[in-house]
Amino acid sequence: SHRPYIVGNWKMNGSRAMLAEARAIDRAAARHPHVQIALAPPFPLIGLLREAVSGIGVGGQDCHTEAKGAHTGDVSAAMLADIGADFVILGHSERRKDHGESDALVRAKADAALAAGLGVIVCVGETLDERDAGRAEAVVSGQIDGSIPLGEAAAEAVALGKVAVAYEPVWAIGTGRVAAVEDVVAMHAAIRARLTEAYGEAGAKVRILYGGSVNAGNAADLLAAEGVGGALVGGASLTADAFLPIVAAAP
Ligand code: 13P
Repeated sequence: SHRPYIVGNWKMNGSRAMLAEARAIDRAAARHPHVQIALAPPFPLIGLLREAVSGIGVGGQDCHTEAKGAHTGDVSAAMLADIGADFVILGHSERRKDHGESDALVRAKADAALAAGLGVIVCVGETLDERDAGRAEAVVSGQIDGSIPLGEAAAEAVALGKVAVAYEPVWAIGTGRVAAVEDVVAMHAAIRARLTEAYGEAGAKVRILYGGSVNAGNAADLLAAEGVGGALVGGASLTADAFLPIVAAAP
């Protein structure tokens, strides 16, 4: 699908009371049929949110590589699929940092998620030190090469538009410091080249989202930019009032 894809990542935020925000977002989604909208709440809310909405996607923020077994505290892709999740966000910089997730682990999780029938959003992005050192494109290209799914289910999932990438510069996340549109365009082109290398022509079906301090004020410029297929939104996805103007800004 080439519809713009606007995804809210609630991170470790939310409560049953906040399902009201999801319901409001869901009701408004009907007015934006050309936009694919989804929310990724914390694990305890996924099933509840799934039951609360009908017109938007619901996803997890991580999954294990295995379908089941002795892994205390972990959640499998099969479990996410079983409670009605459509997709899972993988390799977010907060997981790479807080949980030491490597490219290889992110790839294994992505392969497991696709095997379970979920879509995936694989996150990449450079730190400020890496950008200042002129290494941003090299770092992100390496993350793409190392973490996108390449398992048995990958080619089919790519063709079906179930694989997305989110470019989230670490220094833009939660800082209010959004990346310059021309830098986003350049990075998305570099990512597209790696995707074409990995998947051939079908790589064009992978939507590349921008994430990092997206809000109502900057969304229109970002979403209209060449090669930007949507947005992964953190803080501004926690209320319908903040999130819906971003959806409305999608071209
Ligand atoms: P913010 O929109 O809060 O900067 O978070 C971006 C992000 O990390 C989404 O995954």
